[in-house]
Amino acid sequence: MLNSDVAVPEEHHFLLSSLSPGSAQKRIALVIVLGLLVALYLITGPLSGIQLGAVNAFVAVYGTAMFVTDSITAFLLYAQFYIIRSRGILVIASGYLFTALVVVLYVFAFPGVLAPDGVIGGVQTSAWLYLTWHTVFPTFVIGYALSKDENLNRRLRPGKVRAALFWSIACTAALAGAVGYVATIGEPELPHLMLDRMRFHPGWPYRVGAPIASVCIAAIVVLWIRRRSVLDLWLMVVMFLYLVEVPLSWYPQPARFSTGWYAVRVVGFVSSSLVLIVLLYEITTLYARLLGAVLGQRREREARLMTGNAVAASIAHEMRQPLAAMVTTAEAGFRFLDRATPNMNRAKEALQQIAADGLRAGTLVETIRSSFKSDVKDRTSIDLNDLIQEALALGDGQLQKHRILVQATPNLQVPGVVGNRVQLQQVLLNLIVNAIDAMAAKDDQRILTVKSESYEGDRVMVSVADTGVGIAALDVDRIFNPLFTTKSDGMGMGLSICRAIIEAHEGRLWFTANAPRGAVFCFTLQAVSAASAVG
Ligand code: ADP
Repeated sequence: MLNSDVAVPEEHHFLLSSLSPGSAQKRIALVIVLGLLVALYLITGPLSGIQLGAVNAFVAVYGTAMFVTDSITAFLLYAQFYIIRSRGILVIASGYLFTALVVVLYVFAFPGVLAPDGVIGGVQTSAWLYLTWHTVFPTFVIGYALSKDENLNRRLRPGKVRAALFWSIACTAALAGAVGYVATIGEPELPHLMLDRMRFHPGWPYRVGAPIASVCIAAIVVLWIRRRSVLDLWLMVVMFLYLVEVPLSWYPQPARFSTGWYAVRVVGFVSSSLVLIVLLYEITTLYARLLGAVLGQRREREARLMTGNAVAASIAHEMRQPLAAMVTTAEAGFRFLDRATPNMNRAKEALQQIAADGLRAGTLVETIRSSFKSDVKDRTSIDLNDLIQEALALGDGQLQKHRILVQATPNLQVPGVVGNRVQLQQVLLNLIVNAIDAMAAKDDQRILTVKSESYEGDRVMVSVADTGVGIAALDVDRIFNPLFTTKSDGMGMGLSICRAIIEAHEGRLWFTANAPRGAVFCFTLQAVSAASAVG
């Protein structure tokens, strides 16, 4: 699943037009479609006898609501086009803009809403506007399905985006204007779709119903064949809603303000809002992820800095004295040699002193390691499942960035441990970050598995497995050495500190090779009952 996305830039992983729909979304879409079929049956069957009055204000409210939702949808889709430069998105955004504009004309033309005979056109105008809107929008959908292009190289060049936006908006407005012109000025010449203001013409099923149904079915078929993204799924549902409007317009009565006619407006509004709702949902999710990633990255950076700062500060502090001593002794030794008669004995003593100071510096580095061991106060009882989730949350930004699949099913059977929460979190985070670094270097599928299990009766074992580059045979014996690193920006202190912390918790840290590739780092800790018995 991850590999199929490799060619798609990271930012596209969050966009409606690139994301694949999850099973929940597919289920919701199916429920909507089935619910509509039930509604269709009820309205054309048991509820067909209900007589509803003509409420002209309803058309005004309906038109306004449609205009608002369609224009916001168009705006958001144009914004997406601006980011991903896909021609398909530009086409569908224009489709929504077209409907928003035609809806305005429709309200102006509808008899009895703003004037008894409508503000523009004649008796046929609003019906013709309805027909064009319901055939042109599905045509835009077909255009979208045919022009959406997953091949990034064929997307519009960045320099052309503004011009494309301008021309697409201008052409769509011109198209809506032309439709409005023909439906109003040319109205007397157009075939009749209405008998009068209220009743549909007997030819409605084949003059209006048939063209709408054919173009919607064609749109559904093309979308189905080329389906891939969340947007494809919801446009299919929208097209299905358009299709359902056809029988509802005719049954139970072929007239305005019948049950079916009102149902058509409701269905129309639902279809107009669907993509908008999904877009808003995606935007909110994206916002939440962004916030999580930013916070996670900040916490991770702070955790890294904390370790780095602590180590650097300790080294600087402890090493200053032996280094200063070595420099002073070396200068003295040099003076003993730099005389007319060099004092070889004193020079030798100086060199011996320098060697001793060097050894002492080595011991001090070891002491710094031990200082991490002694900091085991603040021990509390810890749920390992929580600890793992916290550490994964800290590394979330990096995990997402490198598209790493995380497998960390909680083990509810595993006993808790007693320890220093911050330190153990630091250990897990270090191992996770090392695993991420090892996997980032390889293009293969990236899987991080973090799990805990009971181990040797009274202990628990936590393992962090990756599918990264693994550890070279040459490095096996030295990766735990302080200052050993193979990374250009590494400090080589992570694993040595981790081992010190785990040993201070009376545990053990080691690694093995992962199959078929990568490394598994494991550490053991005492389980709660054993730890409290000891304590
Ligand atoms: P740093 O990460 O700063 O280099 P560490 O002590 O964390 O220091 O790691 C030392 C070295 O061990 C790394 O530079 C890397 O070569 C190796 N290493 C650690 N973890 C892994 C891993 N999961 N896979 C492969 N190599 C690893």
